[in-house]
Amino acid sequence: MPIFQSATFEYDGEASYHGVRYVRLNNTPNHLVLHKKLAAIENAEAAVVTASGMAAITTALLTVLKTGDHLLIQDCLYGGTHDFITNDLPSLGVDHDFIEADDPGTWRKKLRTNTKAIYVETISNPLMQVGELKSVVEFARASGLVSMIDNTFASPINFRPAEIGFDLSLHSCTKYLNGHSDIGAGACIGRTDLIEKVLHKLNHLGGSLDPHACFLLHRGVKTLALRVGRQNDSALKIAQFLEGLPSVEAVNYPGLESNSSHGRARSFLDGFGGMISFEPRGGVEKAERFMKRISIPIVAPSLGGVETLVTRPATTSHSGMAAEDRRRLGISDGLVRVSVGIEATEELIDDFDSALS
Ligand SMILES: *Cc1c(COP(=O)(O)O)cnc(C)c1O
Repeated sequence: MPIFQSATFEYDGEASYHGVRYVRLNNTPNHLVLHKKLAAIENAEAAVVTASGMAAITTALLTVLKTGDHLLIQDCLYGGTHDFITNDLPSLGVDHDFIEADDPGTWRKKLRTNTKAIYVETISNPLMQVGELKSVVEFARASGLVSMIDNTFASPINFRPAEIGFDLSLHSCTKYLNGHSDIGAGACIGRTDLIEKVLHKLNHLGGSLDPHACFLLHRGVKTLALRVGRQNDSALKIAQFLEGLPSVEAVNYPGLESNSSHGRARSFLDGFGGMISFEPRGGVEKAERFMKRISIPIVAPSLGGVETLVTRPATTSHSGMAAEDRRRLGISDGLVRVSVGIEATEELIDDFDSALS
């Protein structure tokens, strides 16, 4: 697909504003081909790309919710999503309650007459928990709610939300879908009627994707299956290795049989993903020393690229959260998060081994 780096296109008799070809309307040839491709790889009806993951998430939430509405959210969401829902939406008159995604029996009592949506993540950050995803869809159907899921961590290779009935799937394409850590992008994938509304809202909010970034994202998606397949395999081996080390206190990876999400991960996912978190024995000090000693991984936020990245959530993705909330959710200060890349697995394992010892 060549790059159509043009802001405007010759008038061709279009009758409405949304029909005119213009870069902010997200309808250049680069957008249209990507919309089709993203819908296809998640077995969904339709898709729309956005300027970032947060543009996809905020635009989708503002499409589904209006003043006076209420939504149910998983208790441990991506920091930006959590902040938007808890700090920004209340000022627009939209209220929320938290749910535990693995405990469907407790959801009904949180339901209100004005509840409009339920929002979860396929694999939660940074503890990699997988909720009762099928129950989320059934609960939403029975209660007339829009079911929304952030599928960034799983990627469409490991989970396709539309296949079990989710209405909307959100992605930070900055991560696995692009896979090369060189653009910011997002996507909203799902039911045609909802995607049309999201696109109209996006036309006004303006978080559309640039054609050149569309081109790069399209190119990245071509190797998604190869990259994520490798990352699934490598992450499982690394998690198993870490679990066997006396210098490691805990490993969070849904592919481990010892993990509390393992059964649900096996029933919903085709692979367990490339994200691991673990606690070196010895707390923050040990974690800091590990991060200084490790040589192949880069110490940096973000995830889903071809290079292995490590971060400490307490100082990056979850630094905005109160220390008390982090403790309640089980995110210790010494927790290290790893986004496994595509480097040779044995070399990564050797590197982890020597850095930890
Ligand atoms: C990174 C991320 C986002 C936000 O995406 P941006 O592209 O940074 O705006 C949302 N959800 C999850 C799970 C993420 O990892």
